[in-house]
Amino acid sequence: MASIPAPIRNPEVKYTQIFINNEWVNSESGKTFPTINPTTGLKICDVQEGDKADVNKAVAAAKAAFQFGSPWRSMDASKRGLLLNKLADLIERDIVYIASLETLDNGKPYKESYNVDVWGSIKQLRYFAGWADKITGKTIPVDGDFLCYTRHEPVGICGQIIPWNFPINMFTLKIAPALACGNTVVVKPAEQTPLTALYMAALVKEAGFPPGVVNVVPGYGPTAGAALTEHPDVRKIAFTGSTEVGQIIMAAAAKSNLKRVTLELGGKSPVVIFKDANLDYVVEYAHQALFYNMGQVCTAGSRTYVHEDIYDEFVKRAVARAQAKKVGDPFDNNNESGPQVSEEQFEKILSLIESGKAEGAKLECGGARLGSEGYFIQPTVFSGVTDNMRIAREEIFGPVQQIIKFKDMDEVVARANDTNYGLAAACFTNDLNTANTFTSRVEAGTVWVNAYHYISVAAPFGGYKMSGIGREMGEYGLSQYTEVKNVLVKTPNKL
Ligand code: NAD
Repeated sequence: MASIPAPIRNPEVKYTQIFINNEWVNSESGKTFPTINPTTGLKICDVQEGDKADVNKAVAAAKAAFQFGSPWRSMDASKRGLLLNKLADLIERDIVYIASLETLDNGKPYKESYNVDVWGSIKQLRYFAGWADKITGKTIPVDGDFLCYTRHEPVGICGQIIPWNFPINMFTLKIAPALACGNTVVVKPAEQTPLTALYMAALVKEAGFPPGVVNVVPGYGPTAGAALTEHPDVRKIAFTGSTEVGQIIMAAAAKSNLKRVTLELGGKSPVVIFKDANLDYVVEYAHQALFYNMGQVCTAGSRTYVHEDIYDEFVKRAVARAQAKKVGDPFDNNNESGPQVSEEQFEKILSLIESGKAEGAKLECGGARLGSEGYFIQPTVFSGVTDNMRIAREEIFGPVQQIIKFKDMDEVVARANDTNYGLAAACFTNDLNTANTFTSRVEAGTVWVNAYHYISVAAPFGGYKMSGIGREMGEYGLSQYTEVKNVLVKTPNKL
């Protein structure tokens, strides 16, 4: 990895208020909430706590910005693209600060905040900027004397609710396609990690987006988030987070005004290692598949199925790899991993580790807290895991690898698919027929062959089954932010 500029270890927090109509305001209730540094467990600062009244104000601003004839609705599509590119340029200007702020608030290693999260955001904005003036309809040769064509129009006011595992990246992934298509947005960042979203709001204003086009309301899910999902003027909700909350959101959307809904939810993704795979290569990939971002990835490869002929050797090497992992201060670029995001997640992971032990899995390494401050957990590996154990069925969202034995393709595909989730999957093999059989039979929105975690903004991302509805990224993702209008014009004769 190329060397990167040194982080700012104590980045100043510049914005803690609610962002509506390109202005900073306090919450109507006067309430605030703390955001915690997961490396120390100590408070970073208090942030204004948005609730229903604040969401109502933000939606009103987004509605005014979307009115026919408003600066935003009158803007050339190409200009929307220029604004998105400008926003990308501003992030690039401030990348060290933003990556440092992300690491402070979330705990992820600075080098990953910098190289993956913030660079990823820049790429997302530039990709969707390019689409802004290329969103076109069709002319359709219908029977009779008609000119028939389609217009791809913005949906309107979009509520966007994002999680804490990739805070800035989720922010840009949500706003970029929405704005490219001409929508206006109200974003609710996760309560655990609001700081980079608020800084992004300042850059939105600096880039020159008209007031009301982007609004950011920090606050809690059951209050601010729910107000957005229930609001009658919000036309679409885009959500990333847990499957349980996805179900609540879909019900609220249906009950209020049949909002369009896209959901990116949880997973329990299988990594299937066939016996011909190169062991050194797959041990590292399977390790990264699970441990990347402290295991806090919706696509985490959290069921590692290994062929029985290579199982024991794989376990031995996977354990050695996990034991060699450097976990500690996320601002130290020698470390590979930082803390879990919050005390709640930390406790949940430790209790799932206990369930693994109680249900008879073999704890090969780790299994406990690391150090005495912050939310660090030792890299943990279980072998002897069976499909019915909680650690093989539930999303752990932590640094806990489950290694499971299999015999053949039919059996492993059936077991891989025996879950309500269907976000991602991978197989490792050098045999083309094995790879093709696996990719066609596994039920998942993304399938990697001899790879893991590679994601491109140009390619669709989303889940089968209870891992989600709709797709984000690429042209497929863009299509979720427009309505298709069919226009039929009677003509005096056949055209
Ligand atoms: P969550 O689903 O509760 O939170 C995600 C977002 O939804 C946050 O912004 C939250 O404030 C909001 N939210 C919560 N309740 C809401 C409601 N009733 N209405 C509207 N918005 C609401 O996730 P969490 O509690 O932070 O984490 C719990 C579990 O979710 C994790 O352990 C993990 O398994 C999973 N998770 C998945 C992803 C993902 O990328 N798919 C991300 C984060 C968490």
